Amino acid sequence: MVYPVVLAPAFIPELNAVTHTPDGIVFGAACTLSHMGEVLKQAVETLPPHQTEVFLAVLEQLRWFAGLQIRNVAAVGGNIMTASPISDLNPVFMAAGCKLTVMDKDGSRDVQMDDSFFTGYRKTTLRPQEVLLSIEIPHSKKSQFVSAYKQSPRREDDISIVTAAMSVTFTPGSDVVEDLRLSYGGMAATTVLAKKTANRLLGRRWGEELLQEACSSLAEEMTLDPSVPGGMVTYRRTLTLSLFYKFYLTVLQKLRAQGVSVDEVTSDCLSAAEIYHPETASSVQIYQAVPEGRSQDDAVGRPMMHLSALKQATGEAVYCDDVPLYENELYLVLVTSSKAHAKILSVDTSAAECMPGVVCCVFADDIPGSNATGPIAYDETVLARHQVTCVGHIIGAVVADTQLHAQRAAKAVKIQYEELQPVVTIQEAIAAQSFYQPIRTIQKGDLEAGFKQADHILEGEMHIGGQEHFYLETNVTLAVPRGEDGEMELFVSTQSASKTQSLVAKALGIPANRVVVRVKRMGGGFGGKESRTTILSTVVAVAANKYVCQSCHIRASYFEMKCKCCHFLCCGVRLKRPVRCMLDRDEDMLITGGRHPFYGKYKVGYLNSGKVVALDVSYYSNVGNSMDLSLSVMERALFHMENSYSVANVRGHGYLCRTNLPSNTAFRGFGGPQGMMVAENWMMDVAQSLGRPAEEVRRLNLYVEGESTPYNQILDQFTLDRCWDECLSRCGYQERRAAVDLYNRQNRWTKRGLAIVPTKFGISFTAVFLNQAGALVHIYTDGSVLMTHGGTEMGQGLHTKMVQVASRVLGISCSKIHISETSTNTVPNTSPTAASASSDLNGAAVQNACEILMKRLEPYKTQNPKGSWEDWVRAAYFDRVNLSTSGFYKTPDLGYDFDTNSGRAFNYFSYGVACSEVEIDCLTGAHKNLSTTIVMDVGHSLNPAIDIGQVEGAFMQGLGLFTLEELHYSPRGVLLTRGPGTYKIPAFGDIPTHLTVSLLRDAPNEKAIFASKAVGEPPLFLAASVFYAIKDAISAARAESGISGPFRLDSPASAERIRNACCDQFTKLCPPAEPGTFTPWSVQV
Ligand SMILES: Cc1cc2nc3c(=O)[nH]c(=O)nc-3n(C[C@H](O)[C@H](O)[C@H](O)COP(=O)(O)OP(=O)(O)OC[C@H]3O[C@@H](n4cnc5c(N)ncnc54)[C@H](O)[C@@H]3O)c2cc1C
Repeated sequence: MVYPVVLAPAFIPELNAVTHTPDGIVFGAACTLSHMGEVLKQAVETLPPHQTEVFLAVLEQLRWFAGLQIRNVAAVGGNIMTASPISDLNPVFMAAGCKLTVMDKDGSRDVQMDDSFFTGYRKTTLRPQEVLLSIEIPHSKKSQFVSAYKQSPRREDDISIVTAAMSVTFTPGSDVVEDLRLSYGGMAATTVLAKKTANRLLGRRWGEELLQEACSSLAEEMTLDPSVPGGMVTYRRTLTLSLFYKFYLTVLQKLRAQGVSVDEVTSDCLSAAEIYHPETASSVQIYQAVPEGRSQDDAVGRPMMHLSALKQATGEAVYCDDVPLYENELYLVLVTSSKAHAKILSVDTSAAECMPGVVCCVFADDIPGSNATGPIAYDETVLARHQVTCVGHIIGAVVADTQLHAQRAAKAVKIQYEELQPVVTIQEAIAAQSFYQPIRTIQKGDLEAGFKQADHILEGEMHIGGQEHFYLETNVTLAVPRGEDGEMELFVSTQSASKTQSLVAKALGIPANRVVVRVKRMGGGFGGKESRTTILSTVVAVAANKYVCQSCHIRASYFEMKCKCCHFLCCGVRLKRPVRCMLDRDEDMLITGGRHPFYGKYKVGYLNSGKVVALDVSYYSNVGNSMDLSLSVMERALFHMENSYSVANVRGHGYLCRTNLPSNTAFRGFGGPQGMMVAENWMMDVAQSLGRPAEEVRRLNLYVEGESTPYNQILDQFTLDRCWDECLSRCGYQERRAAVDLYNRQNRWTKRGLAIVPTKFGISFTAVFLNQAGALVHIYTDGSVLMTHGGTEMGQGLHTKMVQVASRVLGISCSKIHISETSTNTVPNTSPTAASASSDLNGAAVQNACEILMKRLEPYKTQNPKGSWEDWVRAAYFDRVNLSTSGFYKTPDLGYDFDTNSGRAFNYFSYGVACSEVEIDCLTGAHKNLSTTIVMDVGHSLNPAIDIGQVEGAFMQGLGLFTLEELHYSPRGVLLTRGPGTYKIPAFGDIPTHLTVSLLRDAPNEKAIFASKAVGEPPLFLAASVFYAIKDAISAARAESGISGPFRLDSPASAERIRNACCDQFTKLCPPAEPGTFTPWSVQV
């Protein structure tokens, strides 16, 4: 037996006891962290302060330890015995010299928690039979000071990069070090003590010389292999010094408070030692109310709650995987490649097929139609046959009676590969000239003349990392064969019902009229469910349709005449059983791609005034192993290469890098944010090189009404200048700037930054044919209306807005109108719900249908003007009037041509401006989002509540993109971040403490439904204001080290990048290893 005895510590009284002793407090090993925190808090309130230094350090670590739910169940003994090298408590226990009592059936013994306690990665000195009984956390001594620090990518609910605790004891009444313990996590396979450094400092005075010696000694002692798992080597090493410096400052202040004579510290350094306490957050939402006197039945413009909001909050809302199990239903699990680039030599399913519950395996040979797939070009396979081109490439699937059985069997499928050299990063693709065609160019003016005219020319570059969609609901499909004529019904979480229908039909080799795709709602999409969902749906449909042996009902292939299992000669029968698959989070992250990483390289010519007169920019996107939508994404990046700035002479190239990563795809903004991010970078470079305020240089270059873009579209109904001015005044920019500058003069190790950033986002699909939509509206005889349209609901409130549109045209209350779902058998040939244009397109189609119906009802209204809606409907019905109709809309006058640089690319533009203020901790790279003010032009909002929600949501998603979210890939193309433990999206604490969103007043848009504007994607880029505020703050930090002028800061502005960019005496002690001399843990893709 592996575990002859299993103990449940929570039920053993001795393990839950808390005992106060003369030396400290003894906690049973099973005490939860929350309980321990409560006891320590009480002790801090009652004991003399000098005794509670260790307790306070534990409490400080608990403040940022996981979340409350975890702290309520996780036990202190569990944290110790897990022996994680990044445990947040073990460094404190070690620095404080805690005593552990351990026990086995022969008795108990005490063990000191020192550097001999952890013997290796997740190993301790405990013998196999021993359990941890308790830990004694000691009182501190009179002349002892203890502090603890944790640095993680995100402040809330995150694990540490480096965690530390430090304890110093002085000869009483002096600043002479008697005992020093510096304990670090995240710097080795175990929590470690920096013993050499501590020993060197014994007997020394706590002053500047000790600090210098400590830092150079720590830099020598706390080294890391440049290939160490987790990466961030320079940063982690620098942190050991920076955190010691914080401790040094804290102790100096405490010594001084005790009357000990110590070195003077200038006041500007004191904020370095401050402990972060979040302020209470506040937010303001400003919008225009509908004019007085408007009918209550006209819901347009009212801040109506999302129609599913309450159901989503209570859990009643039905998602795809909530569809109840069908009798006979099977579960599918994918078999994917573990190699980025390889030939498939063999696939052995024999072990898998013998496992319990397995019904069949599905491979390329089982596809009755075409194995070629893809949303535009058919350059992908449904199931890889001979070659794999990324880790996560789908090779096959196992179908079993349960998810567990299918998962176990999928792991037992053995695949042999012959590995080929992968191309993983953009730089590798550039070196290998590994590009998809075409290479797009937009050019206007005379570049050569522009650079000649310029007073200055600068060059720069920037990398923008990718982003995982991280929708709450992962990809899911349920395929239900209908049993006759090849009919199949699919319940899918997709933004593209029609694309799913056509690609499933193509793979099954049947006409599209046999496939119905139904979408009730999605738990988030963000572009991730626009095209990448189709492959999973197709595989599931193929499995449900698979031929199996007539005799044993398993394992026959479509092309085989003989069952591998029972050797029955047959051509097989179809499985004809419902098959479901919902990807686990790690599978979803691995397989489905995300936002394209971009690399931008630019040359800018500008005048002394700051006016930019020439721009030559090249974009490179990491496309992955298939084209997917990448050309359109790159086109949108080029369409946004000047962001909101007028540049007379401009040229942009877009290169699509073919790499061995999973195919990257649509993601809110669709290349626009990457395009604009590079623009803001050169804009800031220009300002910094001239030593001018970035706000002035941006304003100077802003477009004005009537100017035209690099693709020759004239900007009419231009409201950006109004947004800019309103944002400046709402945020009190000038006073804020003065306050930031003052703060920066007064603080050396924390700096504040401020940035105001505009956005201009083109609205329309750039593929012209997609700018169409349909709707279907039925009026029933009781007056209730059932409606559907081509758009899908993914939480963005589209259905709510469509009901509002219908309510205005039909003149009835929203409560009479219902949308049940989106389906391909009601509205055909729909465009994906994407490009922010779904309210515009589907809204106009709904309007069209409702107007047709109102025309039909008109005679009955005229006949009976005092009658009710129900009266008119009934009268029309008895008069045999068709109360059902479809509606249609196509956006007029679109059609840009890259060859001639002419034609309208966009129907109109959405504009917005944001100003953000941040504070960075120069020593750790952590930052606080202090305040953001957004002014957004959404025309006459259809629904201000939903629109402001979209602005806030997009802003926060952009904030994740530009400051937090990092996908790590190994040099061999393996995704290392496959879940929320390692991939961090913004948490509540990342929302700016003061957030104001204001919708621009009196800005009707004549180009879209009821004068509204698109809102889904445009505000995302406004989070760049946070990035550039961070850059502004870093500039202030660099100025302290005498460094000025432009510098490279890649996105996201993670804590690591911020810290490394704040060059100072500590970073100098930890230089990075020479590139090329080691294999890094992860690479910038
Ligand atoms: C979402 C999440 C966030 C987290 N965040 C943090 C964080 O911010 N900082 C951090 O340091 N950690 C973090 N952790 C890790 C967490 O602290 C530990 O997993 C937790 O403390 C373990 O406690 P437990 O009671 O669940 O232990 P268990 O999981 O029950 O046990 C852990 C191990 O210790 C052994 N063990 C438990 N009790 C004893 C005993 N009395 N004697 C001998 N062996 C014993 C068990 O056999 C097991 O091997 C996080 C974990 C999660 C899930």
